[in-house]
Amino acid sequence: MNLTTKIFIGLILGAIVGLTLHFTAPDLFTQLDTYVFSPLGTVFLNLIKMLVVPIVFFSITLGTASLGDPKKLGRIGGKTIGFFLISTTIAIAIAISLAFIVQPGNIDIDPSGAEYESQEAPSVVETFTNIIPTNPIQAMVEGNMLQIIAFSIFIGLALAMLGKKTEGIMKLIEQGNEIMMYLVNLIMKFAPYGAFGLLASAIGSMGLDGAQAMLMYMFVVIAALIIHGAVTYGSAVTLLGKMNFIKFLKGFFPAMTVGFSTSSSSSTLPISMKQAQEKLGVPKPISSFVQPLGATINMDGTAIMQGVATVFIAQVYSTDLSMSQIMMVILTAVLASIGTAGVPGVGLIMLAMVLNQVSLPVEGIALIIGIDRLLDMARTSLNITGDAACAVVVAETEKKHEKSNEERMYA
Ligand code: ASP
Repeated sequence: MNLTTKIFIGLILGAIVGLTLHFTAPDLFTQLDTYVFSPLGTVFLNLIKMLVVPIVFFSITLGTASLGDPKKLGRIGGKTIGFFLISTTIAIAIAISLAFIVQPGNIDIDPSGAEYESQEAPSVVETFTNIIPTNPIQAMVEGNMLQIIAFSIFIGLALAMLGKKTEGIMKLIEQGNEIMMYLVNLIMKFAPYGAFGLLASAIGSMGLDGAQAMLMYMFVVIAALIIHGAVTYGSAVTLLGKMNFIKFLKGFFPAMTVGFSTSSSSSTLPISMKQAQEKLGVPKPISSFVQPLGATINMDGTAIMQGVATVFIAQVYSTDLSMSQIMMVILTAVLASIGTAGVPGVGLIMLAMVLNQVSLPVEGIALIIGIDRLLDMARTSLNITGDAACAVVVAETEKKHEKSNEERMYA
């Protein structure tokens, strides 16, 4: 049996066990959760999280250094960010349109009791200026992804420029990267058990609470996630990436299941990169550059949730959104999804920023918080799939570049 099948079985078994215990033996569930499910899930999560900071550092440094020429780096960076922005905008547009058609918020609930204490979301300017770390070691200690990425790009650039002079360090980084990739392979053997523990624990503790009232909202979010995945990524991968979409999905599936069970793009990064490099044939320098960046700033699934949630909350509070407000939602949701860290639940915190922009009550978040855990799993899966789709597209378009370079050389 291959790893993908095993992880899948782990997920399904986890969901069944969690749900059954939730309804038949809640006390037994609490015991089992404390001593078996949670520890199993946490050990797996910690194992992969352990690798995230070193992997991002080694792989981005190596990726930047092996791209070498700053022009090429700029071109790949431009394409990557372009892809992220366009796909996220399409994602919210799909989400908002679907929410307007289905009208999930036209239900009989009284929002007056809703209470939600919003956390301060960082401002857009702050997010941008903070990209440069004043202390790279601190950035690593705190796991500040954007800062680690910025630092690694600088080191990689320097290595590329210094060439022979820094051969030793380059070797060291190459070997560091090998060690990390070896460890990812090792840890993935534990993934089926980890996925089982995480799912049993999550589903067992939430059951289907609140799911009924919010059924339509959930349905719209999930439908938009599926449409965006199938249509937007499907056409990007097939048309721009020249790859069979089924082959893409098959190759990337293990990462999607890990994203689903961990609800964290950052934590899933080591596995996403491994799958893209080994199964989708994305060259290491491109995968090392595109995917860590994507796991940090590209969150189409999160943007979809925010789009649907905004329309949903407007409908619950019987507020009409004007066209300019809708444009505002699209703009802020793109920015919010860039600012959302790839860890569980942050998308919901950033939703406060979107709601504030269009003067909708932030308390509305209380209505959807109960089922957000489940949706977080689904949107994280989509978030990382978008990064992989982008990597495939960038890899393909770079091939053309290399070919035309060669042709020019031999002409
Ligand atoms: N959990 C999501 C991720 O890591 C972010 C979010 O939407 O909360 O991709």
